[in-house]
Amino acid sequence: MINRRFVGLLLIVFVVWDTCPAVEPDYAKLRAVMVEEIAADAYRTGSMTGRARIGDSVIEALRTVPRHLFVPKYLRNQAYENRPLPIGHGQTISQPSIVALMTELLELDAGDRVLEIGTGSGYQAAILAAMAARVHTIEIIEPLFRQARNRFHRMGQMSIETRHGDGYYGWPEAQPFDGIVVTAASDHVPPPLIKQLAPGGRMVIPVGDRFTTQQLLMIHKELSGKVTTRHVLPVIFVPLTGER
Ligand code: SAH
Repeated sequence: MINRRFVGLLLIVFVVWDTCPAVEPDYAKLRAVMVEEIAADAYRTGSMTGRARIGDSVIEALRTVPRHLFVPKYLRNQAYENRPLPIGHGQTISQPSIVALMTELLELDAGDRVLEIGTGSGYQAAILAAMAARVHTIEIIEPLFRQARNRFHRMGQMSIETRHGDGYYGWPEAQPFDGIVVTAASDHVPPPLIKQLAPGGRMVIPVGDRFTTQQLLMIHKELSGKVTTRHVLPVIFVPLTGER
């Protein structure tokens, strides 16, 4: 009799346990802490980067885009630490403070056309879309391209156009771009990307030794068509690949 009651109780416990949702961390709170760290990081490096303050629209995007949905499930608990994380295929999602800086350097207005080379997880593209940019993004590794495209669909981010291919050549049919952000390291600035930049547009790209460190460059195409380059900060990115 007691045994049966005990078994019944156990069953109830199991059923309740199984139907309870797992306790999710307070991601919004974790994001708010991450944003504070990004702002502090920008302040620390400000004399070098020329951007001691990250603008409100970038901060707002960082506060809303759920970075934990752009990393592998087993790394979700680390998604709001200010560092890069592996996303498979030997690639990484960039450090949030670098995403913030690169986005800030583009000086975007709502409705601007932006090209991203290196979709990866899709996080940088989602940040740009959250700022109301019209985003085109290219990824060379097909499974990453598919995964990011599915992610955008699931999240209802329809303003992001994706393509599988070599971003070195840009997206000629969609040019000119007000902003271009390259999230993989090249040993030179790809000429097709300079060409596809609109007069007045900006490009942010890590250039240097593809397997050690690079300089983040800010390239500005003036209205006259003249191109100027500024070194922003030493960085480490995965290499820009492709056959050339
Ligand atoms: N912006 C990404 C960072 C991804 S890491 C994010 O927010 O997660 C850089 C990405 O660039 C990798 O996914 C890599 O596969 C891709 N890549 C490297 N060379 C490329 C090329 N020639 N064209 C397009 N993508 C490239």
